[in-house]
Order: sequence, then structure tokens, then C-alpha cells
Amino acid sequence: MAKVVKFGGSSLADANQFKKVAEIIRADKDRRYVIPSAPGKRFGADVKVTDMLYACYDAVLAGKNALAEFRPIANRFNEIISDLGLTISLDDEYDRIIENFKKKSGSDYAASRGEYLNGLILANFIGYDFVDAAKAIHFRPDGTFDADLTDASLSMILGGYKRAVLPGFYGAKPCGTIKTFSRGGSDFTGSIVAKAIKASLYENWTDVSGFLVADPRIVENPEGIETITYRELRELSYMGAGVLHEDAIFPVREAKIPINIKNTNQPQAHGTMIVPVAEVSGKEPVRVITGIAGKKNFSVIHIEKDEMNNEIGFLRRILTLFETEGVSFEHIPTGIDTMSIVVNSSVLETHPNLPELISKVARPGQLEIEHKLALIAIVGRGMKERRGTATRVFAALSHARINIRIIDQGSSELNIIVGVNEDDFEKAIKAIYNALVLGEV
Ligand code: ASP
Repeated sequence: MAKVVKFGGSSLADANQFKKVAEIIRADKDRRYVIPSAPGKRFGADVKVTDMLYACYDAVLAGKNALAEFRPIANRFNEIISDLGLTISLDDEYDRIIENFKKKSGSDYAASRGEYLNGLILANFIGYDFVDAAKAIHFRPDGTFDADLTDASLSMILGGYKRAVLPGFYGAKPCGTIKTFSRGGSDFTGSIVAKAIKASLYENWTDVSGFLVADPRIVENPEGIETITYRELRELSYMGAGVLHEDAIFPVREAKIPINIKNTNQPQAHGTMIVPVAEVSGKEPVRVITGIAGKKNFSVIHIEKDEMNNEIGFLRRILTLFETEGVSFEHIPTGIDTMSIVVNSSVLETHPNLPELISKVARPGQLEIEHKLALIAIVGRGMKERRGTATRVFAALSHARINIRIIDQGSSELNIIVGVNEDDFEKAIKAIYNALVLGEV
């Protein structure tokens, strides 16, 4: 049995956090493969090492002195080393990094050094082997991630180690150039390692005790989510619920490995378990709603045309236009002679002539655009089996005097999506939470 444990930046921000991490790893002998992030913020106004590295590299490119610019970064790592009472020195590593910065080795290389150096310290501190992600995680020459090659090489390389630390966030192209995933990508590294070694569990340790039913900046003290399916999580994270990198779900989901989101500062808390549907089917969820999430900044293109329903190919022509223009849409609620296309408002900024092109291909009777729409997803696997969820959502919004501009229920009955004015966004989430989670309507 092996578990993959990933620790986020705040879990490894200083020596004190390193000690908590070591204790967590030692508490379970199955925690054999460890994925560290770079040191994160120690306090609110602090700067993450990854951000320091990007800034340092830009300064070197702009002609500043590399040694002086790198000094604060080296200091942060040296402080951790000395506070932990370790005897290793990373001076040779720093020299090499500074030399490579001068040789313009790329901002991905620069950013990746946070995870690399932190991994070296952690491996030394807990007595695990260190495996450089550049040797095991592969990108193609065009910069795209090579999942199959990575899966094969990770399982072969890690198969040779009983216990190892492999830094998150980066890998390398065949020529050896370092390439990173998008920000927060150590979550993804953890997920691909878990898949490759066929882990029994992927533990993702962070600074919160898992997912909350709603955004705590909007709802005061929201309840935590104990169990969520991959599909529910996908819906919620797409709509802006943070904590885990969006892509991190896919590799473990494919391999049916559960993810447990845990809190390094409160290891005894249950956290959130992310599981395949099969593991929850038959079990009644605690509540009908698993989570509520939403995003602002959407626009709606309303199209009206007499006898649209009889016009074969109408939708296809519009969707083909979207494809050739390379823009994606969020939802398409339709009526008999009307359809609305919900897009991220930025689409209309980058493609200002989109409405004109739609008029050309579809010749609608009317085309109108509305801005400032917020979308809210109410997600819950429990909805399917119970009546009245939609009624309660709509009643809650009506009692709060909020006008619903769009309604969309996925055919999976896993979610209900409502669109409201951006100004009503926070009020709407609170009203839905109070009604469906606290049972106040
Ligand atoms: N350190 C990287 C970042 O700040 C990657 C990570 O933490 O997952 O985005």
C-alpha cells in the first residue's frame, strides 16, 4: 500500500511548518511518496518563493545583478535549513541557478527552482530519497504534457524507491529544458504520481480543512463538505471553488483513486474526501446540496428568429462560427424561436465583431446582448432522488427579491444553474445557502 502526499506552499513556508509535515509523514508508514510545493506565505503580506523567483528572473533579464537579486531567495531557504538544525548546504545549487539565470534559462526554469530546492531540504529532513521531477515528468517539444510517457517513466523510476520526495510543478522537455504546469500545478504532479504508482489514496495537504459548501467570503462560517464525487467537484471548481488545481482531478479520477484534502495545521480534522460515484451510490448524502459556487463576468447573446425551430442547421452554423473563431461558450438555453448563448464577457472584448458575424451566418430577426450576468451553480448528487430542490432555490431567490435571468439544469440532474445580475450575486448565494443548507425556507 502506498499513499501519495502533496504539501502546499503554506504547509512548507518555514521550519515550523516543515516539522508538522514531518510528523504527518511519520504518522503513517504508507505515506511513501511526497510532493512538495515551494515555500508559500508565512503571513498575509509575505511573498511566495515562486513569485520571488519570477521577479528575480525578470530583474536579471533586465540587467540587474543576479547574485544580489537571488540573495533574498537563498536567505529564505537557508533560514529553513538552519531553523531545522540541518547540516546540508545548498550553496552549489544557488550558484548553478544564478549561472543559469544569466544564461536566460527561461522563466519556467526559474519558477521551478522553488519546488526543487524545497524538495532537497524536505528529503534531507525526513530521510527520504530525492527524485528530480525533470527526469520523470515529460513534456513534448511543443510544450504539451506527455501523459503516457510520464506515467510509464514515473512508475518505473519510483518503483525503484521505497520512499521518495519528488518536487511538484515541473518536468522537462526531451531536450532537457524545464517546463512548469500552470500556477498551483503541484496538485497535478501529485495526481499523476498517484496514478502512476497506483496509490491507494492521494492526500492533498493544505491550510484549510477541505472544501466548504459555499465561499466563506460570502457566507459566514459555511459548513464543510465531507464527501464529494469527482463530477460534483468538477462542476464546482469550474464555477470558481478554489483549493485544488482544476486539472488535478483527471488522472486520479481515471484511476479511481480517492483524494483526501487535509489541513496541515489541523491533521485530525476529517477534511474532504473526493471519491468516484460508485463509492457513494446507495448512500444518502448528508444534504441535498453538496456545494454552491458561482462566477461573475458573463454576457448573454440573445437571438430571436421566427420559425427558428424549423430551420435545419441554424445552431450548427452558429457553433461552426464559434469554432472557427476559436471561442468557447458556457451555456445555450433555447426556446422555440429563441436561443441565448452565454459567454464569458472577455470573449466579446477579444472578439468584438462576434455579434456581426453571428448576424451574417444566422440572419436572426433580433440580436441583443446583455452584460453583467453572474452564474451560480447549485451542485448535489442528492438532487436526483429528491423532489423540490428547484422550487426551493427559486423560492429562496424570490423571497430575497432577486430576479432570475437564466435557468439551466444539466440533464445529469447534478446541478441547477441560475443566472442573476452581478449586483445580486452575493445576496443570491446567501439566500440559496440559507434555504437549502440551513433549511430556512
Ligand atoms: N509553487 C507553484 C505556485 O505557486 C506551484 C504550486 O504551489 O502548486 O503556483
